[in-house]
Amino acid sequence: MIRPILRHGADALHQPARRVVDFDDGLQTLIDDMIQTMHAAPGVGLAAPQVGVGLRVFVADPSAGRSIGDLVTVVNPRVVEQEGAQREEEGCLSLPGFTARVTRPARLIVQGYDREGTEITIEGETLLARVLQHELDHLDGKLFVDRMQGLRREQIVRRVRKLQRAGKW
Ligand SMILES: [Zn+2]
Repeated sequence: MIRPILRHGADALHQPARRVVDFDDGLQTLIDDMIQTMHAAPGVGLAAPQVGVGLRVFVADPSAGRSIGDLVTVVNPRVVEQEGAQREEEGCLSLPGFTARVTRPARLIVQGYDREGTEITIEGETLLARVLQHELDHLDGKLFVDRMQGLRREQIVRRVRKLQRAGKW
């Protein structure tokens, strides 16, 4: 089932998510829905807080549905290694219509669990490294604008508030 994606300003997006304890049916349904919602958007990553669930789970697919082998699901992820830096244009399904250049690690290794609770390690470079850190940020209540500084950040936040006030957000 496709779930509605929350937008910047919704409480669930701005608070840290809880660790998953039970790999139960509820979690399996949540993950299925998140994959479907991400692909339908379409997007390359989606974290549970974006559909209003405060759990540390995200899905990512840098191929945006073109290659099934690229789909990753990570529960209770943590960064074990990061290296270098990249600065590229980035967007977010919770900030539709906005993009900005954000600095991210060039390479990132994340450990966590798959949907069955088996420990996994994922190594990402370039786009996958960017997506992994973007989704990890969501689990800590951060959006890409929170990684930005200065005028461009102010500009985006101001425009979002204006849209909210106008009931267009
Ligand atoms: Zn996002």
